[in-house]
Amino acid sequence: MLFTSLGLSDPILKAITETGYTKPTPIQAKAIPLVLEGRDVLAAAQTGTGKTAGFTLPLLERMVQSHKETGTHKGKPRRHVRALILTPTRELAAQILENVEMYAKYLPYKATVVFGGVNINRHIATLKEGVEILVATPGRLLDLASQKHVDLSRVEVLVLDEADRMLDMGFIHDMKKVVKLIPKKRQTLLFSATFSKEIKTLASGFQTNPALVEVAAQNKTADRIAQLVHPVDKKKKKDLLVKLIKDGQWKQVLVFTRTKHGANKLCEHLEQHGIQSAAIHGNKSQGARTKALAGFKENRIRVLVATDIAARGIDIDMLPHVVNFELPNVPEDYVHRIGRTGRAGREGEAVSLVCVDENDFLRGIERLISQKIPKEVVVGFEVDPSIAAEPINQGGGRGRRGGGQSRSHNSSRGSSSRGSNDRKRSEGGENKSSNSRNRSRSRSRNRSSSSDS
Ligand code: AMP
Repeated sequence: MLFTSLGLSDPILKAITETGYTKPTPIQAKAIPLVLEGRDVLAAAQTGTGKTAGFTLPLLERMVQSHKETGTHKGKPRRHVRALILTPTRELAAQILENVEMYAKYLPYKATVVFGGVNINRHIATLKEGVEILVATPGRLLDLASQKHVDLSRVEVLVLDEADRMLDMGFIHDMKKVVKLIPKKRQTLLFSATFSKEIKTLASGFQTNPALVEVAAQNKTADRIAQLVHPVDKKKKKDLLVKLIKDGQWKQVLVFTRTKHGANKLCEHLEQHGIQSAAIHGNKSQGARTKALAGFKENRIRVLVATDIAARGIDIDMLPHVVNFELPNVPEDYVHRIGRTGRAGREGEAVSLVCVDENDFLRGIERLISQKIPKEVVVGFEVDPSIAAEPINQGGGRGRRGGGQSRSHNSSRGSSSRGSNDRKRSEGGENKSSNSRNRSRSRSRNRSSSSDS
């Protein structure tokens, strides 16, 4: 199939040609016609498979078509928010805007992004000028809406990217508030790599008779990603990581830790061993986060140490290595984390350093992905059998509840049957505008490290 057979207008086709894409990816081939028909769509596609274009291209086409129908294409289109795209993290929101701007290059629409952690006045000024496409994280959007700086009453299409996260505990209340601000009659598109049963049920409340699109079995990892577990004692993980990076001459590595504090400590350790690193997590200023991600993408930083804030959606071209320095306590997050490599049909390697405390997490992950991950002991890093497993503290933060550590987990830790809904959130509500601080404080208590507002 070719893009030309999908019924997209010339300005959109021209922009696609300039990106160098030759044919639609499977998710695009399936989703684009359905979105063009005006259907609500619930799409499950492995991460890195071109989801963003899967919803953006037809969304733009529908905007073009409705302009033609109303005749407004003849004059200067009146700017009001017609498409609202919501994402859980600021980095993903920024990335989606880049994509939207690229695909809408030859169209008259204006797009912008709003998210927390940056001066709200900038957003207010841009919104005042008017935009048709708004990409946002929910907290900042609600702040702007409550201050009447954005009118969502004429939104035609709502897109939730990383929809399972947008509908889980950390965001569901904000989602309900957003939905009250937009028309009931709208098109709703939900895209994610993972969907639990509970989230699918919740999603039905947001959509009308959605078309289901699945391009690969859900909750699956891409075959192109070689996965490996190195069993190792907790105390030796840092040194093992240094060895793996140095011996393997890894040039660009994304390392996930469970906690912000852990990310900082690991970063320091790597730096001490001459490995240029930066950390990215919710306690960092937005400026530092943006700078670290940009430096990493441009290969100026060899190792980016991140909490789950970077697990979802972030597209790093040709990223060869992902390391789970600690396993996530929510199995779905493993799928998202390792999906940062092996994108757009490329190969990738995902290595997990697993200590005895994390064996339950590993079992939960293997159950979710229906796959045993091969294990390989590294010489010199053999596990000491006398070390007994210790429970991992609530929030994964070694007791720093609300101190910015990732998630709480309960007695069912590691169980793949646990839905996302019982997770607690603790990160992301920082840097709010002053009149919403109290609200954000209570929200932030319920956020995870992979959620922003
Ligand atoms: P996404 O899943 O939207 O983050 O996209 C993953 C990567 O695939 C991005 O780098 C896109 O630029 C790229 N991509 C999207 N659509 C296509 C396509 N039709 N052909 C080749 N690459 C694509």
